[in-house]
Amino acid sequence: MEENISHAPNPSPSEGQDGNNQAKQGDKSSSGKSQFRKPFYHRRRYYQKFNREAVQKEKSAFKKLSVIIPLYNEEESLNPLTNELRKALKSIEISYEIIFVDDGSSDTSLKVIKEICRTDKRFKYISFQKNYGKSAALQVGFKEATGDVVVTMDADLQDDPSEISNLLKKLEEGFDIVSGWKKKRYDPFIKKFSSKFFNLVTRILSGIKIHDFNCGLKAYRKEVTENLKIYGELHRYIPVLAKWQGYRISETIVQHHPRKYGKTKFGISRFFKGFIDLLTVMFTTRYIRRPMHFFGFLGMLSFIIGMVVNGYLVYLWAIQDKYLSNRPMLFLGILLIIVGVQFFSVGLLGEMLVNNSRNEAEYVIKEKG
Ligand code: UDP
Ligand code: MG
Repeated sequence: MEENISHAPNPSPSEGQDGNNQAKQGDKSSSGKSQFRKPFYHRRRYYQKFNREAVQKEKSAFKKLSVIIPLYNEEESLNPLTNELRKALKSIEISYEIIFVDDGSSDTSLKVIKEICRTDKRFKYISFQKNYGKSAALQVGFKEATGDVVVTMDADLQDDPSEISNLLKKLEEGFDIVSGWKKKRYDPFIKKFSSKFFNLVTRILSGIKIHDFNCGLKAYRKEVTENLKIYGELHRYIPVLAKWQGYRISETIVQHHPRKYGKTKFGISRFFKGFIDLLTVMFTTRYIRRPMHFFGFLGMLSFIIGMVVNGYLVYLWAIQDKYLSNRPMLFLGILLIIVGVQFFSVGLLGEMLVNNSRNEAEYVIKEKG
């Protein structure tokens, strides 16, 4: 509970508005300031009351919201999640649809979402024949969404639906993607640790200054979801893929909860897969259109070092009459030259492929006159 309270007046721009409202309220009733001197539980009530009032007035600049919820064996969480979502979305003036994407669950999840969709037409579902993974579920949800703003969230009650309004407010400031930041996480140590590590490495490699790349709770303008292509387990790096397409990214702190039902779907393998995925993302975003910059550079570097090493040995042999047959360095030099030529050739082949397959669809067009 305290998390909610301290979060309300936090220093990000969206909260600046709250600050103003607060000031205004203080002006209206001269006792406004003294509210803060009351005991904590009074203050807390004041905040909750204030929050409720502010939320009730909230009008969104967007017309329709699509909430995409990928789920895999989450039967117990789905009904409570639906209730929380309804409650949270009641306070935003916007029409909405909720899209459940059942990722081949083997429990009764599909039955539960079917029942929810039967009784409430704002809820829809898509069900996969088998488990394709979270990225596939998100991608299919993106295609299905009809809103001009799209929010994704996990189905396991770890993400809080009441944060959706904060995400939308932040988007309205002019960003294309707003990612949640689970500043206080309720996950096992190993997960928190590996996540910290990946976030740090991704931040350094991508140059994107956000803290929590893999937060399930994110908001997007529709254009972004139309242009994203996520597969495998690339959902972890959506901000990197989006940034590469030129979209503006921001983050906002969100409340996180411990998992109540079921168990996590990503075990220790996340560590290895995450690393391979990071390499894929870095390569596909930076070099896929210009492979020669990557392979050519490596190839040339290796080739030059090999030539220097062998040049030195030739000098020893020719000028100082030293034998080469007992020098392991000779083999190192030869190896570096061969590897260099190979890297260079791969780069050239890559360039040829890129040249033949270049098509317009890969460029994200903002507007046309
Ligand atoms: N999920 C999914 N397909 C999968 C694995 C997970 O749709 O193959 C969903 C899962 O049901 C949940 C969300 O993705 O709604 C996040 O998964 P989880 O909570 O297991 O991840 P964690 O929070 O442990 O990172
Ligand atoms: Mg979870």
